[in-house]
Amino acid sequence: GPLIGVLALQGDVREHLAALSHCGARTRAVRRPGELADLDGIVLPGGESTTIDKLSRIFEVREPLVERLRAGLPAFGSCAGMIMLADRVLDGGPGQQTFGGLDITVRRNAFGRQVDSFESDVDLAGIDGGPVHAVFIRAPWVEEAGPEVQVLGRVEQSGHPAADGRIIAVRQGRILATSFHPEVTSDVRIHRFFLDLVRQ
Ligand code: GLN
Repeated sequence: GPLIGVLALQGDVREHLAALSHCGARTRAVRRPGELADLDGIVLPGGESTTIDKLSRIFEVREPLVERLRAGLPAFGSCAGMIMLADRVLDGGPGQQTFGGLDITVRRNAFGRQVDSFESDVDLAGIDGGPVHAVFIRAPWVEEAGPEVQVLGRVEQSGHPAADGRIIAVRQGRILATSFHPEVTSDVRIHRFFLDLVRQ
């Protein structure tokens, strides 16, 4: 199978490694610039985007990763990983930077402080077999998406007052991002979808 890195500075790295292995990928935890070599794709996990940002600079992996993304390395980001792939962030921490790659504006912690987390079934374009059970944990949503961005899904009938209609899954070329955490469920359809993008 393809060799997929999981950026392992902070966040739910293990869950992504397990889901990717389950789908037949070879995997590598990535902390150092050299560990980016010969990857076929990379996953940016959920966690805390301000921390991932800072650690990426301390570990000097930020610049080479940004270069690889610009050169077309396929990537999948969940939650904080979606934030790291966004070209623009609202409600970012002081001086917060992203890697970029997706022509989207995300709003951090968008679903509200009272609602630390919620779950909802969402239909996603390109994912067959019924809705995905989406787990949102202090999640961002996509506030704006540029013309090259394909919206894969929105929250619908969630019961959350501000969430319905919000964009929570997008794709631009071979970059994929979800506001929620498919890696914390046993449903690997989104990881498989990413591996199909990698193989294209
Ligand atoms: N709120 C986090 C951030 O801003 C994301 C939360 C998550 O990844 N579960 O990075």
